[in-house]
Amino acid sequence: NPQILLDNRPTGEAVASNFRLVSSETPALQDGQVLVRHHFLSLDPYMRGRMNDAKSYAAPQPLGEVMQGGTAGEVVESRSPKFQPGDKVVGMGGWQQYSVVNADQPGALRKVDTTHVPLSHYLGAVGMPGVTAWYGLVKIIAPKSGQTVVVSAATGAVGSAFGALAKARGCRAVGIAGGPDKCKYAVDELGFDACIDYKLHKDAASLSKALKEACPDGIDGYFENVGGMVLDAVLPRMNAFGRIALCGMIAGYDGQPLPLSYPALILTNRLKVQGFIVSEHMEVWPEALKELGTLVATGKLRPRESVAQGLESAPEAFLGLLKGRNFGKQLVKLI
Ligand code: NDP
Repeated sequence: NPQILLDNRPTGEAVASNFRLVSSETPALQDGQVLVRHHFLSLDPYMRGRMNDAKSYAAPQPLGEVMQGGTAGEVVESRSPKFQPGDKVVGMGGWQQYSVVNADQPGALRKVDTTHVPLSHYLGAVGMPGVTAWYGLVKIIAPKSGQTVVVSAATGAVGSAFGALAKARGCRAVGIAGGPDKCKYAVDELGFDACIDYKLHKDAASLSKALKEACPDGIDGYFENVGGMVLDAVLPRMNAFGRIALCGMIAGYDGQPLPLSYPALILTNRLKVQGFIVSEHMEVWPEALKELGTLVATGKLRPRESVAQGLESAPEAFLGLLKGRNFGKQLVKLI
């Protein structure tokens, strides 16, 4: 069973040598266990935080152990009445070809229906990133039809779902993304009303001006994925009583310092800024997944994916995600 372990912790930027490829035997199944062959690994920005030994909402990734992460695959052997060989499942199998899962552990393995939704999308739009977008939009921003909402990292796993969900609620949806291809895709394929290429702007003031043009009525809700200059540019454009769903600040994950963004504007505009962790709101998952599944099955959300080939490509693909080299949900296909 080929596996990728976290070998050592980054000092500054993460590098490929923080990881180590090994191979081990899969243990024989005990009663209640199933063996899953992973078809896809999910690479997600949160993994970078867990590579550090720092206080956070989740424990650090232990050294010398298989990198933790979401997986989508197929049951190949089962000693549990709950799963049959051939069942398509999502779980947290980690960066390895196979995992042995205790099927009785609540939430450890979820059977999914791939008739209308491709398996890989259960790691993206119809999975954790999709629910993240849903929670921030529906529960924190709670927009009225006609209001303007903005999302950064707009073409990524979370951002693309956010766009579809916002359009389904009659919002003006404006994306911020890196590069002309991503921005064109956001408008042409994802249905954003406009998308701003932040890389064309050398400072927050210039980006803020572009936002003013794209959001003539101001911004009622902002879904923050990035932090840094992008947040500084958005804050002055927020309308009174605007809401900010503070989801992530990827611009600072790989050791870069993030400037403190104008806290005074949060005060003077009476903004509600709320952080959240999607896994602490399991109560919304069924409703959110139902809506997301329908959007995908009916073609209203056509999520794009960046698929790296083979387990050994996982570290480089993950480092690329932190640099914006992914275009859509980053996955690894195990071959
Ligand atoms: P994406 O698929 O959006 O990939 C990451 C993207 O971030 C890159 O493609 C890149 O897009 C952008 N990016 C990377 N570095 C920078 C930078 N320095 N400045 C600006 N943009 C950058 O990832 P996800 O959709 O999976 O995650 C998006 C965000 O949501 C992350 O911050 C993540 O941590 C957060 N998250 C939070 C959860 C929660 O429960 N709070 C749950 C899930 C995700 P571009 O080229 O457009 O810049």
